Amino acid sequence: MSWNFSMPVKIYFGNDKVKELPEIIDSFGFERGVLVCSNTLKRNGVADEIIKNCGGRIVAVFHDIRPNPTTDNVNDCVKVLRENDAQFAVALGGGSPMDCCKAACAIAKGEDKIEIYHTGGKPIDKNEVIPMIAVATTSGTGSEITNISVLTDLAKNVKSTMNDPLMYPVAAIVDPKLTLSVPPKVTASTGLDVLAHALESFWSILHQPICESCSVHATRLVFEYLYKAYSEPDNLEAREKMAEASIVAGVAFSNPRTAGSHACSFPLTNLYGVPHGEACAMTLDYFTRFNAEAEGGRLHRFARDCGFKDAYDMADAITSLKKKMGMAMTLTEIGVKTDEEIETLTQMSMTPLLEKNIIPLSYDDVKNMYLSMK
Ligand code: NAD
Repeated sequence: MSWNFSMPVKIYFGNDKVKELPEIIDSFGFERGVLVCSNTLKRNGVADEIIKNCGGRIVAVFHDIRPNPTTDNVNDCVKVLRENDAQFAVALGGGSPMDCCKAACAIAKGEDKIEIYHTGGKPIDKNEVIPMIAVATTSGTGSEITNISVLTDLAKNVKSTMNDPLMYPVAAIVDPKLTLSVPPKVTASTGLDVLAHALESFWSILHQPICESCSVHATRLVFEYLYKAYSEPDNLEAREKMAEASIVAGVAFSNPRTAGSHACSFPLTNLYGVPHGEACAMTLDYFTRFNAEAEGGRLHRFARDCGFKDAYDMADAITSLKKKMGMAMTLTEIGVKTDEEIETLTQMSMTPLLEKNIIPLSYDDVKNMYLSMK
């Protein structure tokens, strides 16, 4: 076995940590920044509070970002960074604003649009990058500590990732109190994304021991606290534990990456509008059963470490958690009507991410999975 591990992001975790943002900005010697956030956080006053607390360090705000950000969102964000001659940016929000900001920061000092890098293959140039500080407001994507940005190119109708070692945020602030306002449906979906990160990194072909231990810890926390955070939104302990699960699962997948459920989630989101974490969760119990016997049953040992009888028992628990939180259970529910659509879903799921699954999947394996989910 051979593996590498690196985590260059400085992590600040705890209630009210966001109040330390001005000192964190100063510790890096940054002076002139732009805040990038979702419309929700601009509307509910959280962004304005942060700008006020930062004194003159934040000179502009960009908030025109849709969930599952587009390359157009990134280009608009880049324009604001360039117009304001930003030295740095603060991303405030869930994965959508963080990914938009991360891609924008990676090309801020250049002249090109993001498409040339996203699907065009142009490498990131270190002379064009400005640093980003991430402030996470959902317990889900782990984007605050990864070098990944997931973008949708509407012209090409494709949702795909771009990543580069130069795209890590310099710092991540995880303040569980910021997640108290997340609505139950978003809590459920983002929490299931955490579970997908923990499990998929464990059964990725790139799995490795440091990340595996993070997977166990994050999985235990999700099964203990996600339903509580969903059903009691003001339960701060549950919010804290889910924020912890999110960052630990972020470390878990930061190096091994994800696998089949994320590969399948992209067309489920792009074609049928299923929120990201819910889309990952649609196939997570299937992949748990599919991978149960791989590599001498290491997933059974993992499931036992997480308090289950075996991997099949854990798969049943995933199914029941999804049901309890009103997540989509069938393709019919999300609007898939014909076998031709299943064919398209299968074709669009056959991406390099799928090849990270510990058991190789053929086209027919994926199609049969979708047929079983009708
Ligand atoms: P999101 O950022 O799209 O947010 C979902 C909704 O919740 C939005 O309407 C947002 O305004 C709202 N919201 C966020 N924080 C809130 C708060 N504190 N209070 C009230 N409302 C709040 O959702 P997400 O699941 O965090 O991110 C999904 C995106 O991240 C997808 O595009 C996905 O592909 C991507 N992603 C990226 C990585 C990565 O490593 N970069 C990993 C997984 C997923």
